[in-house]
Order: sequence, then structure tokens, then C-alpha cells
Amino acid sequence: MLGWMYYAVTRPVLERVNHRDVEVLADLDDCCRRKHIKSAQYDHFAAIAEEEAHLSAARLFRAMAHSERVQEAQCALIITKLGGRYQPPGRMLLFRGTTAGNIQRSIHYEARSADSTHRARIARNLHAGNRLAARMLIWASAADLRHRWFLEHLNGFSNEGGFFVCPECGNLYTTSHCDRFCPHCLTDARRFIFVR
Ligand SMILES: [Zn+2]
Repeated sequence: MLGWMYYAVTRPVLERVNHRDVEVLADLDDCCRRKHIKSAQYDHFAAIAEEEAHLSAARLFRAMAHSERVQEAQCALIITKLGGRYQPPGRMLLFRGTTAGNIQRSIHYEARSADSTHRARIARNLHAGNRLAARMLIWASAADLRHRWFLEHLNGFSNEGGFFVCPECGNLYTTSHCDRFCPHCLTDARRFIFVR
């Protein structure tokens, strides 16, 4: 199986929170932790790809790691706004392997974002009128899907220039195909972060 093991030595801290908000914060906390783990794992995979001189994979893993960090930070901010407090996982065991295997492993992991749990969480927050939380979860799910697409098509496209990451929502672009404004959060492309 995947082997992305981690141990959380802390659990979400919920302060001054109404009972009905606890479920929302738990959804966001889970999202945050998942993003934290993926950012660390993708940085690690990028370093392995560099060792193997697989430069396109290294570039993509680095960009995805940055995208995950942006999303973790945004998600943590929303948790704080809603009265909770986010603490990242205290200890992680990162998977090592070859780049070919790591690409397949990552595709498999990203595909789990499309499962019914994530869809149900988004739908529940939308239905309850928690638009801030729902939007964050939708951004997270959209990024997962985008990352999966890039991984699946890594050998099929040439991207010598690197990637752009939206600093507000973590949306990811190749430098050769980039919107003028982020369609998720309306950020001007001139603010996008370049990741080589
Ligand atoms: Zn954006």
C-alpha cells in the first residue's frame, strides 16, 4: 500500500467553539493535515527526482509542494477565523522510493481526493451555509485533481520553464499555459509565484 505513514502527536485544539462548528473545524483540520503531509512528501520526492536527474519530475514535485503549503496556510487561517487553532502533525515518516514509483504513488494518493468522503464534506458545509469552509475544501479538492492531472501527463508535456502557483489559493499552472487571473480566487497572475 501507499506507505505515507504519519503520527499526529497533537489533535486539533478547539477553543470557544460552538458545538455545531466542531464538525466544520474537524473537516478543515483534516484538510490542513493532509496538505501538510503532502507538502513534506512532495519536497522529499523532488529531492529524490533531482538525485536521479529526473528534472521534470523534480520541478513538478517542488511546485506541488509549494501549492500544498499555500493551501495549508489558507486553511489554517480559516480555522483561526472560526475560533479554532491548527497544529501541524508532530511527526511524519516520509516515504522513499524511486521517482517512477513515487509518481504512481502520488497519483494514487491524489485520486483519493475524489472519494465520497471529501465530496460529502463539501456538500455538508455548503448545505449548512459555511461558505468559507466549503470554498477552502473545494479549492483543496480542485488542487488535488490538478496535481493528479499533471502527474499523469508528466511524460506527455514539455515544460522547461517551470510552474506558477497562485499565492492565495494554491492553484498550479505551467509557465507556458497560465491564466491572466486565477479563476478560483481572482488573483492577478502578476502575483503568481514562480517555481522552477
Ligand atoms: Zn487563486
